[in-house]
Amino acid sequence: MTPHADRFLADLHTLRAFGGDDAPGSKGVRRRAFTEADLAARDWLAEQFRDAGLTPHMDPAGNLFGLAPGDRSLLMGSHSDTQPEGGWLDGAYGVIAALEIARAAQEAGGPPVSVVSFQDEEGRFGALTGSSLWSGKLSEADADKLVATDGTTWPEARARISDRAGDWLDPARFTGFLEAHIEQGPVLDAAGEAVGVVTGIVGLRQIQVEVHGQQNHAGTTPMAMRRDAFTVAARITTALPDRFANIVTPQSVWTIGHIRLHPGAQSVVPGRAEFSLQWRDIDADRLDRMEGAIAQLLRDMGDETGCEITWGKLRHDLAPMPMDAGMQAALSAAADEVAPGRWRAMPSGALHDASNLAGLMPVGMLFVPSINGVSHTFEEDTGEDDLVTGVEVLARAVERLG
Ligand SMILES: [Zn+2]
Repeated sequence: MTPHADRFLADLHTLRAFGGDDAPGSKGVRRRAFTEADLAARDWLAEQFRDAGLTPHMDPAGNLFGLAPGDRSLLMGSHSDTQPEGGWLDGAYGVIAALEIARAAQEAGGPPVSVVSFQDEEGRFGALTGSSLWSGKLSEADADKLVATDGTTWPEARARISDRAGDWLDPARFTGFLEAHIEQGPVLDAAGEAVGVVTGIVGLRQIQVEVHGQQNHAGTTPMAMRRDAFTVAARITTALPDRFANIVTPQSVWTIGHIRLHPGAQSVVPGRAEFSLQWRDIDADRLDRMEGAIAQLLRDMGDETGCEITWGKLRHDLAPMPMDAGMQAALSAAADEVAPGRWRAMPSGALHDASNLAGLMPVGMLFVPSINGVSHTFEEDTGEDDLVTGVEVLARAVERLG
């Protein structure tokens, strides 16, 4: 199987033009799910699928497939929608790489490869909406309640594709799913490596914490007599690294991403602080132990400060999702041939459509570096040599799997 680098790069640049930022030198893209730019890009993709001998098929969620001839095929792809100010590779790389592999496979006489661009991976409505619907993790009734921040409802979005959309496809027709994606983190770039073979997608847990202090006058209340909810929240934040010290690895992460103070006035000691606390790791047992350490810290801090501290789950837990061993072996062997000494096995800290499919079929993922580790911004980029190396690794892995 011989993927063509020029053809692949030309298509990747053409896709960028749909919603592409036109400032000189910018590679940024605005292609939110179901906008004009997104639907035009999907129509263009459908044409490329047809030219490659694949049958285009859009399902009721707007997921666009290019189906290889025959009953069974390997599915490859990612998503082609972007963040409001997104990069040109997040999702697009995996879709166009899959298109090139499907073409190269047809030219080589097999194995059959189908392509998919999932819809609304970037969460204009939900998160991973298209693949969540297809995999049954999100019901159509629940999807119909989703509303974008601009007020557009999911049923209104669906109506925009009513002339294009057909039925749901049976996932059983696919032998597995292989997704290539930019890393969106700094590990490969910092190490000067070309490829990452993903071992699994990290699990995620999130709680909402409320600290109840005493709301009071900011001028008349002596410091020693305050029960300032924000100060307690800040102490919790700075105490976490110590409490986690014997539990976490350098790949464990935690984030307080949103905080609200009540009443939120310049001259009032805050009486209440509410904040989100999220943590992610590849190991479920470690997620448990981090949760235990957080609970202990919150109890200790409540005892120490006299503030009542309560907490509850903000969302359902996402379990760590290991990638299929056979897929990992094929990708690792291919990476060893194409980029010896320049690849590593690594977890994915970001969620991807692959997480949704892992229960339905064997799933594998490949990363290429992100320059300076940045993504979800116009500056997102990857060296074209690395983009091509990733496609070559995919081709050899698909040959092995075939
Ligand atoms: Zn993505």
